[in-house]
Parts: sequence; C-alpha cells; structure tokens
Amino acid sequence: MNTTLIDKLSVSHALAYEEWVTLISSYDENDRVYAAEKARSAATDIFGDLVYLRGIVEFSNICRNDCYYCGIRRSNQSVTRYTLSDEEILSCCDAAYSAGIATFVLQSGEGAVSAPHLSQLIRRIKGKYPDAAVTVSVGELTFDGYRMLRDAGADRYLLRHETADAAHYGRLHPDEMSLSHRMECLYQLRTLGYQTGAGMMVGSPYQTAEHLARDMMFLCEFAPDMIGIGPFIPHKDTPFKDEKQCSAKLTLFLISLIRLMLPRVLLPATTALGTVLPDGREQGILSGANVIMPNISPVRVRDKYTLYNNKICINEETAICVKCLERRLNKIGYNIAYFTR
Ligand code: SAH
Repeated sequence: MNTTLIDKLSVSHALAYEEWVTLISSYDENDRVYAAEKARSAATDIFGDLVYLRGIVEFSNICRNDCYYCGIRRSNQSVTRYTLSDEEILSCCDAAYSAGIATFVLQSGEGAVSAPHLSQLIRRIKGKYPDAAVTVSVGELTFDGYRMLRDAGADRYLLRHETADAAHYGRLHPDEMSLSHRMECLYQLRTLGYQTGAGMMVGSPYQTAEHLARDMMFLCEFAPDMIGIGPFIPHKDTPFKDEKQCSAKLTLFLISLIRLMLPRVLLPATTALGTVLPDGREQGILSGANVIMPNISPVRVRDKYTLYNNKICINEETAICVKCLERRLNKIGYNIAYFTR
C-alpha cells in the first residue's frame, strides 16, 4: 500500500493531502528503505556521486526572538552572547575557501546585526570572492532589509518555515511571531530574486502526521530552491527541555519523500541529523540528500551557538572538518564537489 504511494510520488511528484497523511502515519521500515533507494537513485541521476558543501558561519548568537525550542532564545540567561567582527567573519570565509568551499552561509539569531551592516559585510565578501555564493540566514527582516542585502550581492536566503500549520506554529513560538509573517517573508525573498530555502523541524513537540502532510503540501506548492529539514533535539535551557528528541528514521524518510517530490532541490543532510545518529549525515546522503553544511565558525565560539544539545563538529577547524567529511563520503561512494557555488 505504502510502496504504491511512494511509486506514485516518484512518478507524479505530488500526492494529495490525505495520501501524505496515510504515508507519514503508517510507514514502516520497509517503506523507508524503499523510498530511500528510489530517492537515492533520483539524486544520483541528477547530481551523480557529488555532494555540495555550504559552509556556515554562525556569526552571532544574539537573538530577539524567544522560540520555545531554541537554545539561543532571548530568555536563556545562561548563553554567553557573542558577535563576530567583520574581520573574523572574513577569515572564516578565507579558511573555508582554502578548504574548497565556495558558498558561505551567514547565520545568526534575529536582530543581531543590522541590514546596513550586513550589506557592507556581504559587499566585502563578494569583493574578495566574486565567484562564491553568499547565503543569508538571519530570520525575518523587512522587505527593505531583504532588498538591501540582495542589492549588496546576497544570492540566497534560508528561512525555514518550521511548520506549515498555523496552530502548531503557535505552540512552538510566542504570540509575537506568526506563520503568516514567516510565509510573507518567504514570498518576499522569492520576489527579490533570492534562491530561497524553506524547511521544517521534524518531530517537534505536538507535531502530527497531519502537520507534516501540510509541510509537504506547502513545499510542493512553494517549490523552494533548497529545503533544510532536521530532527528536533531538546535544549536543556528551553521550555521544551523534557520533550522527546525526534527519531533519525522519520527525518531520513522525509528527506527521501522530498527528493522524490522535488528531484532537483538542494537538500542538506543537516548537522542535527548527524547529532541524533553518528552516521546521520551519510545516511541522509544515502536517502537522497545532496548537500552538507560544514560549520566554518571559529572554534572558540562554536559551543556558544547551541540551538540544541550535543551538537557535533564543535572542536575541529574547517580544514579538518572538510577532510573528515571527505573520508566519510568516500566511504559511502560519494565525492565532494569542491568549489561549487
Ligand atoms: N535566526 C535564523 C536562524 C535560525 S537557526 C532564523 O530565524 O531563520 C536555524 C534553524 O535551526 C531553525 O530554523 C530551526 O529549524 C533549527 N533549530 C532551532 N532549534 C532547534 C532544536 N532545538 N532542534 C533542532 N533544530 C533546531
């Protein structure tokens, strides 16, 4: 029954809402493996054995938001807050470029650095590395803010929608945040010509198969250029500290379904996936993902950008991280696409 739905998805690249609910609520391990094999071959048809790297600089953990799941939420008093200087961020890019990474993702909490300041920084990065891509991931800005960054040369923007169900969104965020605003931002980013990334947390508190079905319907309709999904992992200083960590298997299954729905999408095997399962990122690639996002922040701040507990890759410098990834990928028959933007 479920393999029939998986076959249907891989042929028509869409399912009806009820079909998503059935598939997500009743899949078993056989279905998951079946979907992974199909998704993996769909990915290799397009990307061959190549995995793309996008280096993330987590340049500030200051945040004005208070998302219930996130370790750097503003009410968490135990965070030592930091913001990297522009020079430090540029040296992260230098180290990443020397290691063969040509996409720099600038991520931070919300409101940490102003749009004019970020624009200046983006101009400097693009001036130094004109062939590299700059991706921004700093949350919800005004249309003018997004435009300013785009004018400065930003190519891409990552803004996960987190959950496409408004009531569920309301259980993960305080009242001052809303799904409708998040969605409005995504459409604005697209209007401005950004390559746009969306995505949801998998297994977040109160999430049901119906919510995930809505996520899939939204992703199908919006068809982002990139889709970042990762398992929810509790953080000890948040209201969700006692909530259950998401299973790697559900995340892997959804990665496969996303690949079958949108064969060409850029789909990372995330650090969170590598955190819930020691070979999670490799499993992600084997389930249809085609991107890995190594942490290129200075090692001295890595343990301060703790969105969730037990985050991996917080001790190795960029060059060593990339070598480690290369070894892991070669072991499963894949190669890094160096210097791909
Ligand atoms: N401030 C930016 C960046 C957020 S951090 C923004 O608003 O877009 C990047 C992503 O980490 C979030 O979008 C969220 O999906 C994920 N994240 C945050 N806390 C998490 C947790 N406890 N477990 C798993 N993923 C988490």
